[in-house]
Amino acid sequence: MTKSELNKYRNALEAKQAELARMLRNRDGIAIEKCPDALDEVQYATERELAIRSLDRDSNLLRNVRAALDRIEEGSFGVCLHCEEDISPKRLAAVPFTAFCIVCQEMADRSQYQGDDSLDELLITAA
Ligand SMILES: [Zn+2]
Repeated sequence: MTKSELNKYRNALEAKQAELARMLRNRDGIAIEKCPDALDEVQYATERELAIRSLDRDSNLLRNVRAALDRIEEGSFGVCLHCEEDISPKRLAAVPFTAFCIVCQEMADRSQYQGDDSLDELLITAA
């Protein structure tokens, strides 16, 4: 990968990092500001749950973005952490913070999906 390509990814990642950090900060503010009405407790709990879940997702994303920036510094950016093959430039352009090539990512997604399936089977068996 050329230096200018690396710079392009670094800029994209730094912009993403700033955006996520800002979003996470703002959300903290909203959570503190919000005062639950007793009548709205259920709705509040649901909203809170959703907020926490998207907070989780954004924190994860932020961690991935920071890890990708670290990999740029270390010189290992663009290489799949699992199989050590180069990640395709097309994939990097779409998700510059990815740590895996498309093959390994699909494998991971599939095994996660199968995990859900066996959980369903477990629940059926339990019922
Ligand atoms: Zn791979």
